Amino acid sequence: MGKPTGFMEYLREVAAEVSPRDRIRNWDEFHLPMPDTDLQTQASRCMDCGTPFCHTGMEINRMASGCPINNLIPEWNDLIYRGLWKEALDRLHKTNNFPEFTGRVCPAPCEGSCVLGITNPPVTIKNIEYSIVEKGWEQGWITPQLPHKRTGKKLPLSVLALLVSLPLTSLIVRDIGSRYTERRSPRLVC
Ligand code: SF4
Repeated sequence: MGKPTGFMEYLREVAAEVSPRDRIRNWDEFHLPMPDTDLQTQASRCMDCGTPFCHTGMEINRMASGCPINNLIPEWNDLIYRGLWKEALDRLHKTNNFPEFTGRVCPAPCEGSCVLGITNPPVTIKNIEYSIVEKGWEQGWITPQLPHKRTGKKLPLSVLALLVSLPLTSLIVRDIGSRYTERRSPRLVC
């Protein structure tokens, strides 16, 4: 668990962003990095709930509740609180192949379902996820997962592009890719 009293001691704080007026002038990243110590403080707000609704990934009354790919949120929050970034990345990759996408564009139903949100602003789950994967690229911890053997089977790039555009099917693609196939040109090792 993060800091047992963290959710009582610390307020929710998200990373600053480049102003919309400035960001429309270019295609640059507009999420500004947050210091590691501040991220550890934010992660310490996680209460490690007995029933962590943040990662349930289910429909309640036809409304999405929690993470649709069941990210192990309390676990990587705890690892970040303890400053174990590589371990947090490994835990994140157990359920999510492209946190660099979801950490930027996911509407974060996890935060809407965060139990802390009942009494206080919820844990900044999306920003912590984004920061974990950014650290992973920065440190060179994210490397190609090469298949053990190849079958020569091929996937048209158009089909692959469709599949990886969706979080759930991207999971399938990575797993298939790491076991069997190569994509048809451009030749990128998967
Ligand atoms: S619901 Fe919120 S407080 Fe509870 S484990 Fe998930 S992120 Fe932490």
